[in-house]
Amino acid sequence: MSSSNKVETKLIHAGELRPRVAGAVNLPIFQSATYEYGGEDDYHDIRYIRLNNTPNHTVLGAKLAAIEGAQAAMVAASGMAAISTTFLSILSKGDHILLQDCLYGGTHDFVTKDLPGLGIEYDFINASDPASWEKKIRKETKIIYVETIANPLMDVPELPAVVEFARTHKLVSIVDNTFASPINFRPAEMGFDLSVHSCTKYLNGHSDIVGGACIGKAELVKSVTRKLNHLGGTMDPHAAFLLHRGMKTLALRVRHQNESALKIAQYLEKHSAIGKVNYPGLESHPAHARAKEWFDGFGGMLSFELKEEDAGITDQFLKTLQLPICAPSLGGVESLITRPATTSHLGLSKADRKKIGITDSLVRFSTGIEATEDLIEDFEQALKKVSTTVSR
Ligand SMILES: *Cc1c(COP(=O)(O)O)cnc(C)c1O
Repeated sequence: MSSSNKVETKLIHAGELRPRVAGAVNLPIFQSATYEYGGEDDYHDIRYIRLNNTPNHTVLGAKLAAIEGAQAAMVAASGMAAISTTFLSILSKGDHILLQDCLYGGTHDFVTKDLPGLGIEYDFINASDPASWEKKIRKETKIIYVETIANPLMDVPELPAVVEFARTHKLVSIVDNTFASPINFRPAEMGFDLSVHSCTKYLNGHSDIVGGACIGKAELVKSVTRKLNHLGGTMDPHAAFLLHRGMKTLALRVRHQNESALKIAQYLEKHSAIGKVNYPGLESHPAHARAKEWFDGFGGMLSFELKEEDAGITDQFLKTLQLPICAPSLGGVESLITRPATTSHLGLSKADRKKIGITDSLVRFSTGIEATEDLIEDFEQALKKVSTTVSR
């Protein structure tokens, strides 16, 4: 395995133990809470399951670092464990953090409901408008935090400007790279200090575990790991085994999802019952030029509005679909569909939702690995029924 190998090769071979354990082709599950004392002289080096240092943890860390082209990586019990622990390893009482204004719900709630109690203040920024960031900076600001592709309108921030701004103001730049996955975007290559992931989504890809990761500069990853050792949000070895298995097909899955999502977005954009389609791969998307320049693919996530802005008709449309499962989450092999007004953005009033572009007929789609033709055919039959209902 050479460091110049392509990502498909790294997904299989990077970080693997040599020699293999008892010759096993697959890394076994190390179902052992504790390990023989080997003369370790630092608490964090003691080999104990919560200290994130079983082979199931360290092999995943090495593989994740290799595929994002970063110095180091670690895994955690969930995406939120990775994100909250990352924040808490950098921020302390009196500090301040800048964040993109349309964050993943769990991150938004942690920042607005939990950080103030710890004496940590925050401000939201419009991540597409770097000129507006300067007036939000304080001498206590420590982090600037964005998401590669933001839910549910699939906006893409001015990513290089985030890196530049962090350098100028000596902040830690962090990006939640869950939606893009390391196949489409590798933050370390652009100069981000850290990236965080919900491995529950694309990295595992099979909707059967919860997990998280933090990837980036070695010094920072080390302090996140030490904080996780204290907070205890450690990934279970069984989940680590499934994540390791799921990651091997990451490139195959994501490339198919990129291709399929683009075809579906193009199909929907031409359909007379559809108002607007939000997909960075479409020329009509406000972030298309940015995404094209920085990403290797536009991802598997898209959203669209039915022309008829009616919650009842939209719910009926979702029920008429045969293949996509109506469920939250994303990034798995099965296509999932949701209506953000009733799921991720239920906490906002209808008027507030409308202000940020989330109408009652907005639908979010996570493209699975089913045949694209079958998904389009399914949309076709369901949209035909919408058209008959509307014209009646
Ligand atoms: C799901 C998700 C998270 C949280 O991850 P969990 O594994 O559910 O804790 C964070 N960020 C984004 C963008 C997500 O989609």
